[in-house]
Amino acid sequence: MTRPTPHPGIMKIAPYVPGKDSVEGVAKVVKLSSNEGALGPSPKAMEAYASAAAELHRYPDGGSEKLRAAIGRHYGLSPSRIACGAGSDELLNLLVRAYCGPGDELLYSQYGFLMYPINALGVGATPVAAPEKDYRTDVDAMLAKVTDRTRIVCVANPNNPTGSYLTKDEVKRLHDGLPKNVLLVIDAAYAEYVARNDYESGVDLVDAAENVVMTRTFSKIYGLGGLRLGWMYMPEHVADAMSRLRQPFNVNLAAQAAGVAALADLAHTDASRANNDRWLPWLSGELAQLGLQPRPSVGNFLLVGFGSPDRATAANDWMMKDGLIPRMVAGYGLPDHLRITIGTEEEVGAVRASLARLATAK
Ligand SMILES: *Cc1c(COP(=O)(O)O)cnc(C)c1O
Repeated sequence: MTRPTPHPGIMKIAPYVPGKDSVEGVAKVVKLSSNEGALGPSPKAMEAYASAAAELHRYPDGGSEKLRAAIGRHYGLSPSRIACGAGSDELLNLLVRAYCGPGDELLYSQYGFLMYPINALGVGATPVAAPEKDYRTDVDAMLAKVTDRTRIVCVANPNNPTGSYLTKDEVKRLHDGLPKNVLLVIDAAYAEYVARNDYESGVDLVDAAENVVMTRTFSKIYGLGGLRLGWMYMPEHVADAMSRLRQPFNVNLAAQAAGVAALADLAHTDASRANNDRWLPWLSGELAQLGLQPRPSVGNFLLVGFGSPDRATAANDWMMKDGLIPRMVAGYGLPDHLRITIGTEEEVGAVRASLARLATAK
């Protein structure tokens, strides 16, 4: 050995590739690659962020007390069982570090969020993927992959990039089939967008069990991805473990202030949801008319099938020339698809127009 080497798991990680945010030679772009919330942040959150500027020499409140209290009030949850993080990404990472190690297995779904296997490899654990059916998490396939080495099961509900969701009953069946020492992580980053009466974000199951946690984010409907802010609801014993492992000042001061203000701006959140309720079905219908395969979605994005990897790549390049940035999802094993965030009326109109011109250009 002539130089330091990271432990073997690290070199197995295929680095996460974030959505693109620029196109060479195109000045004005519409970024539809990271599901960031069509209406941007609440003006009240922006105000709170600006007001924090004069206090930037101060360390943030290490316990995010006001923010946790605000989340607790908003969702009717006990703040003692809430932890905040620098994005839900940080919390997902903390969970894996706390409950998984070398030789352990982290189970996720075939097209599940890529940060799950990345986090597993990061601690020397083995990520195990269960096959999906029709771009949906398959509860039976997941349970069939559980072994005595399984420590964590991660399910994004709704899932990114597919947009599909598990019903409350399906999540319950998944939980019922797991040994009690396996932690079920329900990543509900898009929960605020879901309007289905057979959906439950995970709160009820966290309350009913000792081995379930739910993560949430301010990056999607609240439009605060740039500030890095997420939270988690969990049993007391998990909260205890998290409070030991968490960095003492993991959530910055401006993020805490903006988060409190964003929660209070109900009108902005309602408007964001209404925008999605209107333009998600519209774009889905239009793209289907063009002969594409938009998969059913309850999030703020569409996974669109183009029939082949070549066609998906060509559509990506075509949209990019129009200044529209979709997300290529070959890294998720979906090279024949693109993921497109639902934007404003003008933005979804531009997506339809661009893909309609591509269809006639062929
Ligand atoms: C966007 C996203 C997250 C990450 O959110 P942050 O809070 O910004 O870290 C987590 N899970 C899923 C499924 C996501 O799509």
